[in-house]
Amino acid sequence: MINKASIFDLTTIEIEQFLAEWGQPTYRAKQIETWLYQNYADSASVMTNLPKSLRQKLAQNYLFEVVTPHVVVDSTDGFTRKSLFKLTDGREIEAVLMRYEKRQTLCISTQIGCAMGCPFCATGQMGFMRNLTAGEIVAQVLHYARQLSQEKRHVTNIVFMGMGEPLANYAQTWQAIRRLNDSSGFNLGARHMTVSTVGLVPAIRRMSKEPEQIGLAVSLHAPTDELRDTLIPINKRYPIAMLMDALRDYIATTKRRITFEYALMDNLNDSDEQADQLADLVKDMLCHINLIPLNPTPDSPWSGSPDERVYKFRDRLQTAGVPTTVRVRRGIDIAAGCGQLHNAHANRVVAK
Ligand code: SAH
Ligand code: SF4
Repeated sequence: MINKASIFDLTTIEIEQFLAEWGQPTYRAKQIETWLYQNYADSASVMTNLPKSLRQKLAQNYLFEVVTPHVVVDSTDGFTRKSLFKLTDGREIEAVLMRYEKRQTLCISTQIGCAMGCPFCATGQMGFMRNLTAGEIVAQVLHYARQLSQEKRHVTNIVFMGMGEPLANYAQTWQAIRRLNDSSGFNLGARHMTVSTVGLVPAIRRMSKEPEQIGLAVSLHAPTDELRDTLIPINKRYPIAMLMDALRDYIATTKRRITFEYALMDNLNDSDEQADQLADLVKDMLCHINLIPLNPTPDSPWSGSPDERVYKFRDRLQTAGVPTTVRVRRGIDIAAGCGQLHNAHANRVVAK
């Protein structure tokens, strides 16, 4: 592990502080941040409006290469790109770029592995290694921003739906969101970011008090505790009624619409009766349901519902008055779809 702090972990005030300690004027902070977050600089040496001695000192004291891409795969249609990044401790994470006609959406990781152990999810199947730092989260975004800028394109949306449970790494995820949202940082509107959670009730309550207007998506996947207990082990601690209470309060406080994610699994959670139970559960809430046919993962015994079932389930919810859409499957041929992110070398710490 390299012991230098990452420059992307620092807030404006922290940058100003070290500059003050180095006897540098405060305005240098703005210059450095412009290089990092508007020009996507990946080294101090390119910061040509800073004195050479300051550039050298920055390079000596702070780490700029926090995530290093070492495998990149593009889907055959060319719209989805998955990058495997190596971190400074040799561990690896994945993040995905999805291109649409007018949008470029990033799916970003917040942890290496995940402790929640949902059996249908490839990240859950690999277990938990560690939390990512705010800088490692931010650096994934800047990597893609740098690539897209070569095509004169921008990152328009960020979803925290990659590896890990963002709300189990609350402090670092939130610091990253602030850096990404901050006008002196990446300056992306909070409404263009969405955090997806398995349903950690205390963290959802905490999130409702944050000033940033981030979107919230909740992975529901089952309308009853009996079934949800088997798909999402943490449901035993935060059962559906408790989760729904927290979400009702969240909506009342924030006045924001939430999204429920529901992965349709063949003959498991996709019956008409379950659609009706789901509609009952959410019918008076300011929400939207996003149906995702389950993507295949190595150790999962379940498979995705056939298209006909998916559309029938959607129609039944819509008839009951619940706004429902089917998520377009992306990047399945490169295992970059929802819940497919993992890596075979996760436990191997590569010597540096
Ligand atoms: N830990 C968070 C965010 C990461 S997972 C969460 O669980 O919400 C992002 C989304 O992918 C979640 O809705 C998750 O339930 C879903 N997912 C996981 N495995 C999947 C699979 N095999 N097929 C489809 N969606 C899956
Ligand atoms: Fe973790 Fe989300 Fe996967 Fe569950 S679905 S194991 S919470 S990443």
